[in-house]
Amino acid sequence: MKKVSFYLSTTILLIMFCIPMQAQQVGEQQKWAISLHGGAGGASSSLTPERVAVYEQHLAEALNIGKVILTNGGAALDAVEAVVRYLEDCPLFNAGHGAVATAEGRHELDAAIMDGSNLMAGAIAGVTDIKNPISTARMVMEKTPHVLLIGTGASSFAKQHGAEIVENEYFSTPARLEQIRRIREQKEESDPRGTVGCVALDVNGNLAAATSTGGMSGKMWGRVGDVPIIGSGTYANNNTVAISGTGHGELWIRQVVAFQVSALMEYKGLSLQEAADEVIWNKIDKMEGSGGGIVCVDKQGNVALVFNTGMMHRAWAQSSGAWGVGVLK
Ligand code: ASP
Repeated sequence: MKKVSFYLSTTILLIMFCIPMQAQQVGEQQKWAISLHGGAGGASSSLTPERVAVYEQHLAEALNIGKVILTNGGAALDAVEAVVRYLEDCPLFNAGHGAVATAEGRHELDAAIMDGSNLMAGAIAGVTDIKNPISTARMVMEKTPHVLLIGTGASSFAKQHGAEIVENEYFSTPARLEQIRRIREQKEESDPRGTVGCVALDVNGNLAAATSTGGMSGKMWGRVGDVPIIGSGTYANNNTVAISGTGHGELWIRQVVAFQVSALMEYKGLSLQEAADEVIWNKIDKMEGSGGGIVCVDKQGNVALVFNTGMMHRAWAQSSGAWGVGVLK
């Protein structure tokens, strides 16, 4: 009898202590977070409240696509790809349909994706006919031993793997054609901003980052920006953080922005916010150029959105229920 009551009380004690512990662990595991951008820009005065509302509505729709995937236990990699595909198809943003034009009035697109769980990455640069560059970047990561394919090589690879191919005009919109006309007539400056990107943490603790762009409006033929340069505009590492950038790509390349944020966290123990602030305000902001911003999610599900421009189209959400969408400062 004594023995039975001993076992009984031990079992009760175990249940008392183990159940809450397990519940806490499950709760921790089910943490997810997502953050996205639709480009940073200078003059917020050029945007009417109606236009801001239109942007915010599309950013919220993109956010929702990612949230649905993550709340259902989907992979961060799938979430960031799906969000960026949506933004590529939306003519408001400088990626896919709606991408800015080169000085010749054509479109050359760059994209990259990175899986923080294994540091695998895929990217394409200077492509002129792939409808959704982000999905081809993912194919480069998953189906080749390489990281970066360019131009016609990237297009042949995309065709071989069944990617949707379009005429270069598909990427044009009336607004982009008007923009390049004004740049040619020197009525407007070349603007290096407007890229789209997304970063996410999934319930399994995996981080991923994806970025896609038409690059800089009025850019030279063959110019490649920071987006497909892993560690500059795109980076993900399960030990630290996932980052996607938008801004003056040449600065992002020279400062290796995304990797710097990760390195400050890994080697100096800075928090996500401290590391992101350090790189944008103490490095990028001190350089000559037009700046930009980054969206980041770390391995704990913290989110940081830092930009030194007048605005950054952005949205974020966490499994706690917190979320936000914004364009202006
Ligand atoms: N960073 C991109 C580039 O320089 C442009 C952008 O963010 O809009 O290609």
